[in-house]
Amino acid sequence: MRKLIAGNWKMNGSLAANEALVKAMLDGLGGKVPASDMALCVPAPYLPQLAGLLQGSPIAWGAQDVSSHESGAYTGEVSVAMLKDFGCRYAIVGHSERRQYHGETDVVVAAKAQRALAGGVTPIVCVGETLAEREAGQTEAVVKRQLAAVIHAVAHCTSEIVVAYEPVWAIGTGKTASPEQAQQVHAVLRAQLAAATQHPERVHILYGGSMNAANAASLLAQADIDGGLIGGASLKAADFLHIVASAA
Ligand code: PEP
Repeated sequence: MRKLIAGNWKMNGSLAANEALVKAMLDGLGGKVPASDMALCVPAPYLPQLAGLLQGSPIAWGAQDVSSHESGAYTGEVSVAMLKDFGCRYAIVGHSERRQYHGETDVVVAAKAQRALAGGVTPIVCVGETLAEREAGQTEAVVKRQLAAVIHAVAHCTSEIVVAYEPVWAIGTGKTASPEQAQQVHAVLRAQLAAATQHPERVHILYGGSMNAANAASLLAQADIDGGLIGGASLKAADFLHIVASAA
C-alpha cells in the first residue's frame, strides 16, 4: 500500500501564509509524483483557498473536524455536505485536542466518523493514550476502546476509515514514541481491525506525535506504520516534503 502523509495545520495560517506554504510544497515536488499520498488538513475557512491552490495537484485536502449532525441548529458546526462542497477528501475526527478541550467522547467521535463516511469523506480517526494512561499500563485498553466505538458505528465500512495512533504525550511535545513503541500499538490496532473487517490491509494506520524530518524514516519503516499525521512539521514545506520522501 502507498503510505499516506497528512498534515494537520491546527489553528495556524492566513491567506498569505497558506499560499506561500502550498507554493513551496508544490515547487518542491517539481511536478513529480510524490513518494507517498499526501493531504493537508486545514482550518475550515481556508478550504476553498486550498481547493483552488491544490486543484490538479497530487495533494488532497481535508478538514480538522466535522459535525456529527447532518444539518440544522448547530451553531458553529460544519457539516460533511459543506466539506464535500469544497471537494474535501478527509476529515480528522477525535483528535486529542478535541477530546481534551471540547469534551468529545468516544461516542461523539464515532458518530462523526460515521457521518463523514456516509457523506463521502474519509475520516482520519485519532486514538491515543495520555502519559498517565501509558504509565498505568493502559495503552492497549485505551486505544482499543476508542477504536471499538468507531468500528461499532461504521460496521461494514470499517475498511474505509484511516486510523491515526497519536500518543497524547507525544503531540506537540517533541517527545516521539520510539519506532518499537509505535509499532507495538499499531500491531494491536491492526489485529483489532482484522477482527472487524475482511480487508484490514486496506486501512492506513498513521502514526502522529512529533514526527519530523529526522525521525520519520525509522517510524515509517515499521511493518504496521502506513504513514503519518504531522502537526508542527507540516507547517514547514521542506520538512513536510522530507517526511513524504522518507515514506518511499
Ligand atoms: C497532531 O497534531 O496531530 C500532531 C501529530 O502534532 P505534532 O506533529 O506537532 O506533534
